Amino acid sequence: MNKITTIAFDADDTLWVNEPIFTQTRIRLEEIVAPYIPIETLEADLYKFENQNLSLFGYGVKGFMLSMIETALEMTDQRLSGADVQHIIDLGKDMLQHPIEVLPGIIETLEALKDRYELMIITKGDLFDQETKIARSGLAHYFNRVEIVSEKNTGSYQELIDHNGLDINRFVMIGNSLKSDVLPVCKIGGKAIHIPFHETWVHEKVESHETEGFEYLELGDVRELISLMKR
Ligand SMILES: [Mg+2]
Repeated sequence: MNKITTIAFDADDTLWVNEPIFTQTRIRLEEIVAPYIPIETLEADLYKFENQNLSLFGYGVKGFMLSMIETALEMTDQRLSGADVQHIIDLGKDMLQHPIEVLPGIIETLEALKDRYELMIITKGDLFDQETKIARSGLAHYFNRVEIVSEKNTGSYQELIDHNGLDINRFVMIGNSLKSDVLPVCKIGGKAIHIPFHETWVHEKVESHETEGFEYLELGDVRELISLMKR
């Protein structure tokens, strides 16, 4: 860690709360669909549409809104009323304007690191949504670089390392997702630190065998970074 000069942070569920907003919205969707049909399979059906639509819509709330509407229409055999479609759109608009809840210890940690390291955000999703979240979080001034990518994989990490002129040996990525923040960085020879969040979207989950052979650190609290990076 003593060679590190750039510390990159994931945003959603690393810097601020995100997945619980999606979970709360899924519960509201169940309430909208419940008068039409049994809702036991709704969560799985919604994920099926989300996953199918990722290659068309990309990540983010707007794609999620369309997938919620598509799921509800399919589940109700197109009986969902116009008023209920509007209700789902309003749920999405509420998500887009949801207050940003910065996670405990983040400000303290960024304050401690900002003068000694180049700090960076690397997040995936909808450009406009992620830009406004960064602005609304009040954290933007801590970061020297912000990268919003459509997918976090070995190719996109390599590309952003290259075009930012970064040295992979002096770079560490920190995030809550093994799939998006840790494994692709390890695979291109970088260092990564996993800080788990209590809720993980099914799409970000990895099987334990997928992490075998990769070396990365796991921290329970972001504030542990302060002493780790002092060594
Ligand atoms: Mg995340």
